[in-house]
Amino acid sequence: MRILWMKLPLLALGLFLAPLQAVEFRAGAATSNITPELGSSINGGFQDGTAAYIHDELHARCLALDDGKTRLVMVVADSCVIGRGIFDEAKMLVHRATGLPEANMMMSATHSHSCGTLQAVGQSEPSPVYQKFVARRIADGVRRALNNLAPARIGHGSAQVPHQVFNRRWRMKPGSIPPTPLGVTTDQVKTNPGVRNPGLLEPAGPTDPEVGFISVQHLDGRPLALLANYSLHYVGGVGPGHISADYFGAFAGKMARLLGAEQQEPPFVGIMSNGTSGDINNIDFRGSQAKEGPYGRIQIVADEVAQAVADAVKSVKHQDWVPLTVAQKEVTLGLRLPGKGEVEKARAVMKQSKLFPRMETMEQVYARETVLLADFPPTVSAPLQVMKIGDLHVSAIPAEVFVEIGLELKKRHAPTFTVSLANAYHGYLPTPEHHRLGGYETWRARSSCLEVDASTKILAGLEELFQQLPQRAE
Ligand SMILES: [Zn+2]
Repeated sequence: MRILWMKLPLLALGLFLAPLQAVEFRAGAATSNITPELGSSINGGFQDGTAAYIHDELHARCLALDDGKTRLVMVVADSCVIGRGIFDEAKMLVHRATGLPEANMMMSATHSHSCGTLQAVGQSEPSPVYQKFVARRIADGVRRALNNLAPARIGHGSAQVPHQVFNRRWRMKPGSIPPTPLGVTTDQVKTNPGVRNPGLLEPAGPTDPEVGFISVQHLDGRPLALLANYSLHYVGGVGPGHISADYFGAFAGKMARLLGAEQQEPPFVGIMSNGTSGDINNIDFRGSQAKEGPYGRIQIVADEVAQAVADAVKSVKHQDWVPLTVAQKEVTLGLRLPGKGEVEKARAVMKQSKLFPRMETMEQVYARETVLLADFPPTVSAPLQVMKIGDLHVSAIPAEVFVEIGLELKKRHAPTFTVSLANAYHGYLPTPEHHRLGGYETWRARSSCLEVDASTKILAGLEELFQQLPQRAE
């Protein structure tokens, strides 16, 4: 709680200052079920998937914070990727119903690869009915979190989980990198080279072992919500045609159990957001992981991350009040688009598919991407956002951000973490250096078409936002 002098309305006796008025910090959390129907498209692979079995329900997990003056909302939804249209519609619905400014909401996708398609990637197409449903459900989740606002205290901390993150881009022995599906022969790294590939030399980049988190408690100390952030693409290893929230969902459940918050009213909400994981996954290519059945690795990772966070929460100093601020801006980014000749050649490659219009080979899949990109505009406007919660900065970038970028922001602005795939979707965000190295994440497709210098422009844009926010927590 913080004491403020507040002006009261002009009364008959004249203007005066009220004696000490209390300003409360409040928080609320809620979830919305966003599970798609059986038979729905599942995206995340080069071929489309079909939902045949619901292993665990999908959710939009919502946290609302209010310092008495400013309200901020963070939403993390179980989806591979979510485009700007859906996020903007959800924000508009919340704004219309509650007056909360759109800029005060940060919405992101987890990047689980076993969810309903909301964005056209690979050979998956979204259903407009499911897109509309999810926008509505996200908005409802936010409104329910706002309805749950209650006096709360807040803190943040971090844990280290170094053994569940691996850089998936590898430098290889000469001769062990094949040409790309676009015919490029100069790649110097191979993504997902295969476990114990004899050509392995060393990973082409670092990992970020930190799990940053925000912990919110009721005034009596009961956990209200916990939002974590870890730089891990997803885990995977679900059954065929399975719908699952991957380790992001498993983490939320385990967090409630570990904090003893399973049977609360309103329910405790655990949330795992995706950090900067564009080049990071959970596969040890040196071969030290035992083989697991379906969901085996998801459970291992969720257990370890949740336990590390539960241990770290114990030493977090929760505060009765912290100031909340937010800054947002748009940056214009160029796209890497194909030339006329490339598009014509790609059309010819597509025709070779015996299953046309479905593509069979990687060469055909990338040819189709080339043809689809021909209709893209030369530039896009990408939203950047930084929320300041006490002395913690949380950035939002609308892409699959390489870990080097998140580490750079941590070096400059700790304590901080970055939420990827937030507020829009513009594919992979490698650094210019990684563009030079090549590899899967740089191959031109709708899922990788930002200009080579996009990360430089995004970091500069975020830097402006950091400078706009108050430098010191009150
Ligand atoms: Zn990805």
